[in-house]
Amino acid sequence: MSLRGPWSGGTLGAVTSDPAPEGVQRVLLAEPRGFCAGVEMAIKALGWMVRVFEPPVYCYHEIVHNRLVVDRFRRLGVVFVDDVDEVPPGAPLMLSAHGSPPQLVAEASEAGRFVVDAVCPLVTKVHHEAKVRAAKGYTILYVGHAGHDEAEGTLAEAPGQMRLVEREDDLAAVLPTITDPSRVALLAQTTLALHEWQNITAQARAEYPELWTATRDDLCFATTNRQAALRAVAARADAVVVIGSSNSSNTIALTKAARGAGCEIVLRIDDPEELELDALGDAKVVGVTAGASAPEDLVQSVIDKLAPRDGVEGVFVTDEDEYFPPPRALRELVPLLDGLGALLVGGDPARARELGGLFSTDRDADASAVFSGFDTGLDTGFEVAAG
Ligand code: SF4
Repeated sequence: MSLRGPWSGGTLGAVTSDPAPEGVQRVLLAEPRGFCAGVEMAIKALGWMVRVFEPPVYCYHEIVHNRLVVDRFRRLGVVFVDDVDEVPPGAPLMLSAHGSPPQLVAEASEAGRFVVDAVCPLVTKVHHEAKVRAAKGYTILYVGHAGHDEAEGTLAEAPGQMRLVEREDDLAAVLPTITDPSRVALLAQTTLALHEWQNITAQARAEYPELWTATRDDLCFATTNRQAALRAVAARADAVVVIGSSNSSNTIALTKAARGAGCEIVLRIDDPEELELDALGDAKVVGVTAGASAPEDLVQSVIDKLAPRDGVEGVFVTDEDEYFPPPRALRELVPLLDGLGALLVGGDPARARELGGLFSTDRDADASAVFSGFDTGLDTGFEVAAG
């Protein structure tokens, strides 16, 4: 492990106040943290839809599991629904990054709706594996959380052949339902804590030596990397602050990873206002990270509030350069923008071309700019109060 980045060993310029002598001495900042490639893709895509289409733009389920991101999109005119029947015919509709049941994806396109499925490609991969294994007659153990959007979407791929396993204890009830021990597969929700997945896999493999699993496990790189960085932080910290929402699976997994690394004070907060400094006790070294759907500006605000006397040290584990291009429906729309598609932006071909150009620089764009107008070289045109 090495230290790097603008935080390494430095003191934040924003820390200008005189913290109390007994306050936080140092912040250890996990790298990587915050927005993953899938969340970046989904947020930029929804931001793009807000810009192109007349409001309201609809979104099935929370675009990502972060209260502040959802609130900010609401202020940009997005209407979130839990039932596609609430979306009028012809309206633009985004499906969330967690993935949707295949039946719902098919129905959503009815009535002339313009549907953009912002499912993360890594979730799509698990859907695909479920479909293929089910077609080959496998019974599929699916390790995930009941009621989570991603789990519900994946289980719907083969409801008759998939068995949800939330914890090791569930195996006792599930295994007797398996009739062909030579055809058992195991898949998992992408955002679990490592220990949730590994122990169940080991038990299932002991029972079924021919157990099929994906060649690489189904935990996504972003989940794995954020947990690794936080474990490195937590091993050196008196307390850890995890920024993210309570319904965010990868955020909760981060809190578990920090406790698993031996840190006794682990606080999960949605935003800096929820951070009670008293809850840190006498902690001198405080670790900070953010779940995959938590905006980076919240990290800065939390650090401002902690006001570490000796500054911020980045704890670097690995680089992430993954990039997921915009959803296919949007990519296919772009070539139309100069022509018929210009109608979508008020019949202005020049405006349409400008939006097409914005789209072509998507790789370099920062999802945070959708809300904050940070200088990314792109004029997003969005104005919304941070909150
Ligand atoms: Fe995709 Fe992983 Fe991000 Fe989930 S956490 S959206 S699976 S990259």
